[in-house]
Amino acid sequence: MSANILLIEDNELNRYLATFLLEKSGYAVTCAIDGPQGISMARDMIPDLILLDIQLPSMDGYAVAQSLRAENLLDNVPIVAVTSYAMPGDRDKALDAGCNGYIEKPINPDTFVEEIGAFLRHNDQEADYAQSTHTRS
Ligand code: MN
Repeated sequence: MSANILLIEDNELNRYLATFLLEKSGYAVTCAIDGPQGISMARDMIPDLILLDIQLPSMDGYAVAQSLRAENLLDNVPIVAVTSYAMPGDRDKALDAGCNGYIEKPINPDTFVEEIGAFLRHNDQEADYAQSTHTRS
């Protein structure tokens, strides 16, 4: 399965590394460099998953997650926060803001793609379940 991933990340090197790893594994990656751009792109493309840096200029990742969660069209899109390992409080705040999970920064090239894949698979199973319960009723 080739999923479309929206990456919202202000740091060019982090964008480069994440995009490189994901594209190498067959994912299509679209990048936004800040929150407002990311929200606008998410509305337009309805990605399969949003990877959201928490430390962003002007509008931080928590505010971005809350705005994304206010969009009905994005209800089924998993949002994965990228949080700093040094800031454990970020994780709870990210989940409270509507993220489905988090990945620690710096990202580990050996496990990164697998972690993203797990969020996508989890979402697929829930979608299948929703569909099957729909069919039965
Ligand atoms: Mn950042």
